[in-house]
Amino acid sequence: MRAEIISVGTELLLGEIVDTNAAFLSQELAALGIELYHRTTVGDNEQRLRQALVEALSRVDLVITSGGLGPTADDLTKEVVAAVLDLPLVLHRPSLQWIEEYFARMGRKMTASNRKQALIPEGGVALPNPNGTAPGVFVRKGEQIVVCLPGPPGELMPMFRSYVRPELQKESRGVIRSRVLRLCGVGESELVERIGDFLAGQTNPTLAPLASEGEVRLRITARAQTDAEAEALNGELEAKLRARLGLLIYGTDEDTLESVVVKLLKRRGETLAVAESCTGGLLADRITDVPGASTVFDRGVVTYSNRAKMELLQVPADVIEAKGAVSPEVARFMAEGVRRVAGTDWGIGITGIAGPGGGSREKPVGLVYFALAGPGVSLVREEHWSGDRRKIKRRTTQAVLDLLRRTLLTDQECPARRRLAFSLPPVFLAGGFFIWEKKL
Ligand code: AMP
Ligand code: MG
Repeated sequence: MRAEIISVGTELLLGEIVDTNAAFLSQELAALGIELYHRTTVGDNEQRLRQALVEALSRVDLVITSGGLGPTADDLTKEVVAAVLDLPLVLHRPSLQWIEEYFARMGRKMTASNRKQALIPEGGVALPNPNGTAPGVFVRKGEQIVVCLPGPPGELMPMFRSYVRPELQKESRGVIRSRVLRLCGVGESELVERIGDFLAGQTNPTLAPLASEGEVRLRITARAQTDAEAEALNGELEAKLRARLGLLIYGTDEDTLESVVVKLLKRRGETLAVAESCTGGLLADRITDVPGASTVFDRGVVTYSNRAKMELLQVPADVIEAKGAVSPEVARFMAEGVRRVAGTDWGIGITGIAGPGGGSREKPVGLVYFALAGPGVSLVREEHWSGDRRKIKRRTTQAVLDLLRRTLLTDQECPARRRLAFSLPPVFLAGGFFIWEKKL
């Protein structure tokens, strides 16, 4: 089965809103194994909508429209669909009743134009809309199907899931199943090199890398007759990728670095406190996005000024004086300070220059030091990021969470590897009491 999506709305063409409905529908169609080769966006214009619909119906068996089911004069989708399919519009009484009740509940007056929303092309099925007034439409003409869905995503998505997806499931043969592997600590180009043989040779499942801020996703997509077959194909490739990439893979599907870190800490029954300077609380924000973080996360402090670092974390004034606030030494004192003050198992300290001003030759914008202190562990890492403040903050928290994740994992699952990883390249600073490592 092949499909097309037509997104209707002048506001889409003006760039006032982003077409999230088309993205949602595309994902849903892919999951159903329905092929999608074209998407069209068209304004609230009868002629152009008609043309788009006629063209789509000349190519495929299924057309799904989004938008234009409202009560106003520029909402024309059903009218155009009825005309193109050569079906009269008829009143659908249950929908009319629903709309009347909806207005009564809201205590608002119903207008004649709302009545128009209860019209559907003859022979079509009206799709109930529990989240709004306009019903959707599922109509067949010969071998072809046209589905009209309302524009608001809060109406379109549940309607698709409840009525359209089950119906299309019956029509389509075969399924497409995807899973996503999430990686951190490797760039897209390096990754592509490391798994080039897989990327070149894979047709089913397909393998697609996708880079976003500070991480790379690998999407594995299999096509098969049944769910189980598709999942098995995906599982086979996943196992091979895991064997090759090991610790670089931090999670799958909906995992985030913070959710993985919280899970690891929970499993170990350990706690965490963080002291942030240049990230301004973003690390604490991300950790507290995870439900149940309170069992492992004790506190986060934003110690932006030197005074705050001294008062709240007992960073020695002479160290700040001698080494500067952005230094491996201060990062380490922040991590150890917050760990001591909070009495947690793990402490993290972050200090850096987020720019755009404040950089120098020795300490350029984007220079960040972060430290991890824990049982038998004291690490400081240096990174040089590019980009604006937001990007530097985001990438720093990403790298910090990844450092903690790897430390928790290697400690637990492979102590030998940990020793190896942490002894590469060891730079002992004055006094030699901690390891400064650039890359794990
Ligand atoms: P409509 O049914 O076309 O009048 O759309 C009603 C509202 O739904 C619009 O004002 C948008 O806020 C939203 N909407 C319409 N189409 C889309 C779309 N393709 N993606 C996301 N939101 C949309
Ligand atoms: Mg509209």
